[in-house]
Amino acid sequence: MTDMTPAARPDSVTQFEGADILTLDPAQPLIRKGAIAVSGNRILAVGPQAQLAKTYGTQARRIDWTGLLVLPGLVDGHSHLFQSLGRTLGDGLSLLPWLEHFMLPLAANVTPDDAIAIYRLAGLSALLLGTTAVIDNHYAPVDPDTIVALAREMEALGLRGVVARGIFGPMVEGGHRMNCDPRLFRHSTAEEIALTRACLAAHPPGGRVEIWPMPENVVYLDPELLIACAELAAKQDIGWQIHCSESSFEVEIFESLYGARPAIWMQAQGILSDRSALAHGIWFDDAEIEVLGATRTHIVHNPVCNQYLASGIVKLDPLLRAGANVCLGSDGMAVGGSGMFEAMKAGFLLQRLREYNPLATSAELMLEMATLRGAAVLRRDVGQLRAGMLADFVALDMRGAINQPMTRPAMAVVMAGLPTVSDVVVDGEVVIRAGRSTRVDHDKVIADGLQAAGALIERAGLRDLVRDWIPPAYAHPA
Ligand SMILES: [Zn+2]
Repeated sequence: MTDMTPAARPDSVTQFEGADILTLDPAQPLIRKGAIAVSGNRILAVGPQAQLAKTYGTQARRIDWTGLLVLPGLVDGHSHLFQSLGRTLGDGLSLLPWLEHFMLPLAANVTPDDAIAIYRLAGLSALLLGTTAVIDNHYAPVDPDTIVALAREMEALGLRGVVARGIFGPMVEGGHRMNCDPRLFRHSTAEEIALTRACLAAHPPGGRVEIWPMPENVVYLDPELLIACAELAAKQDIGWQIHCSESSFEVEIFESLYGARPAIWMQAQGILSDRSALAHGIWFDDAEIEVLGATRTHIVHNPVCNQYLASGIVKLDPLLRAGANVCLGSDGMAVGGSGMFEAMKAGFLLQRLREYNPLATSAELMLEMATLRGAAVLRRDVGQLRAGMLADFVALDMRGAINQPMTRPAMAVVMAGLPTVSDVVVDGEVVIRAGRSTRVDHDKVIADGLQAAGALIERAGLRDLVRDWIPPAYAHPA
């Protein structure tokens, strides 16, 4: 760990004290009545409140969190904040028609102003749901001015994260086979790389929010462009993401075009590593899982989305045993989710059903996947509460009747689905206090987001997706 400042002056230290703390640090996983001392944007110490009080005395600024439950800030490994523009629409479709009839026409009509308005709303919502870092795949629109503006919006909200610039490139056969909207394929391979480089030059890596390349999907990307994105990421020492093997249909198309399954093909191109993250990764066979483990590739599991679109179930245990890293993602708000607590609960339950085995998952594994395993994808010192880490953490208020008793806090958090988030600290700063942003006006953010969404539905011709009531297809009981 770097930047440890054990000699910090007590008067520059803030101490959050009195809460029970799930640290995700194996050395002291649960501290009852604990404290976290922070200096600048780093954690100085985590331990029992009485012990830290002796070290930092009464000079530290003290924030009373008695009765709260603290855990590392959640890392959303894969989202699409802009898709909140279509929240609650497009239900009842599997992945390909969902893209063809709903999301891609919506995306083709998003303006830069729409994107900024919805980023504020969806980003605020993420923070209020305990997410402190988001790797966001943004693909509408993707001009450098908008991408850089969104990175700054993310920072302004107080989030950490990545704006992963969506890259479609030229239309290729895979795009035709998936009936993709041709309006999204508007740049050549060389133009896409030049545009992404321009984003990186205007907003260089290393800050609280980075810009990464996101070649959208292994099936409909020009292979040269995909390889160029991976090379660009390596050269800039950043990560990259791609949608891969979400539906069985995509894998069939890919195999018919390339004569190999996607992970095997990507390994043959030499682009899989601990820098690459594959979103979804459901339909891998045994040989692919072996390759993903050997290359230490990241898989972002989106269990709510996968159930919503009826895509399939990730092979979690085989992937982890093989050595791949699997973290959790929300995949945005347009696929049935509401954030990372729900993702943990959905992932916990779904794997048990996949294996018909109640030992297939644990609350602790889900917490790891939502924190430190996501941090590995993000490539930042977050996801654990111990000295030297960046100070990103969340305080939950679970004292009310709906969460009590909570004899085993890890289980209580994962089973809660939607616990009450009280305070959120990112980079050492309190960005949510008592459920309200310290940085933005909630009412204005909501009003602007609603206005953008309403206008877009008309402009994109999606009015017929808005239905007051869709009657169930069954007769009422007599
Ligand atoms: Zn996605």
